[in-house]
Amino acid sequence: YRVLAIETSCDDTSVAIVDYKRASNAAKNEPGLTGSLRVLQHSTVTANNDAYAGIHPLVALHSHRANLAPLVKKLLAKCETLPSHSNHNVSDGPSIDLVAVTRGPGMRSNLSVGLDTAKGLALAFNVPLIGVHHMQAHALTSRLLSAMENVDTQQITPRFPFLSVLVSGGHTMLIDSTGLTEHKILAETQDIALGDCLDKAARVILTPDQLKAPYGGALERFSFDQDSAGHWNYNYAAPSRRQDELERRPTEWGWSLSPPLAESKGGEKSSRRMVYSFTGLTTSVERLVKSKTSAASTFTTEERRCLAREVQRIAFEHLASRILLYLSSSGNDWKGDTIVVSGGVASNRFLRYVLRKMLDVRGYSHIELSFPPVSLCTDNALMIAWAGIEMYEAGFQSNLDIGPLNKWSMDRRAADGGILGV
Ligand code: ATP
Ligand code: FE
Repeated sequence: YRVLAIETSCDDTSVAIVDYKRASNAAKNEPGLTGSLRVLQHSTVTANNDAYAGIHPLVALHSHRANLAPLVKKLLAKCETLPSHSNHNVSDGPSIDLVAVTRGPGMRSNLSVGLDTAKGLALAFNVPLIGVHHMQAHALTSRLLSAMENVDTQQITPRFPFLSVLVSGGHTMLIDSTGLTEHKILAETQDIALGDCLDKAARVILTPDQLKAPYGGALERFSFDQDSAGHWNYNYAAPSRRQDELERRPTEWGWSLSPPLAESKGGEKSSRRMVYSFTGLTTSVERLVKSKTSAASTFTTEERRCLAREVQRIAFEHLASRILLYLSSSGNDWKGDTIVVSGGVASNRFLRYVLRKMLDVRGYSHIELSFPPVSLCTDNALMIAWAGIEMYEAGFQSNLDIGPLNKWSMDRRAADGGILGV
């Protein structure tokens, strides 16, 4: 069957049209996973927020209004010439068998543009509608890859239970997924996101000509050397002690950065809390650079690079610390073997290296790390199509009276009866 999906929760207006073929022997507990998916159309328009420091809600809203319907029209028209999997007659006009749309969480007015358009399409085509939880869709993205035709088969298929680490400019989250509608947020940032921290660090460490978007990527390129064989030289030893006993590592320049929520500062309780924090680290970096660039001192490129490496090391070890804390927590019976790392920051090779090393050192070398391509980690309608398909295959469907949900807890989903609840 053919699925049209819409995503408008933030500043990306995204539409996808896919064909999904059920497997004849679909697994009972994860029916959607065994089918195969062909992407027919997938296109995203991003609101132009250049004039603002962040995302301006009204600019994004206007962009959705201006772009969504024309985009749907264009993509539907393109599909008409493609052979259909159903018995649909091309001369009857475009065909759609299911409409999936982001229902929340996100900005309510922005969500409404997508949701109302989706309802109209579901009515017009007389097909089911499915309202998708945006974060659930992020968590399921790695499974989409294994269902996709013509995709590298080396990809790991994460089966429940698996952990997801979502690291972007706006999110830092550790999620435990034990079933299609059972996703628990284990840790979230209590202040800024990891990507935001790296962006802010890059702004003060890099020179204007080095500062190219994405800033986190520019910081990474600035920090490390590649040898002649193309290997990155990290010169990194993962701490073998418990992460909550981590200390500062003084550098040859006489300064050091302290790990967030360190025991030395907030006591043992703080170092074992399942939260992330990146504001303190960001502020230390900003202060250090300020003092270094004052008239009295010199701040050489080598010292800058050392600082760039240190902020990444500390931030990534902090990220790993909560994963390890969860894996080693008493009474935790997590039986999974995969951790999916997604979001813009997941493209950082040093992050991948640090996570791997820290898992290995602490006895978790059997756990696989999976990194979906970054294009699918950022907001996109393909993941909405996929989450919608998995839900639909599991028997879920939304009523036409649903409204957008600006707040929609992932943890509450199952208790409230999944997608039909709230
Ligand atoms: P969200 O989707 O949570 O609202 P976002 O739009 O910022 O946030 P992404 O595009 O997934 O989402 O992430 C962008 C972030 O990823 C930026 O902070 C950027 O600096 C960071 N980033 C991109 N490439 C790298 C890299 N190689 N190393 C570190 N950070 C990176
Ligand atoms: Fe998102």
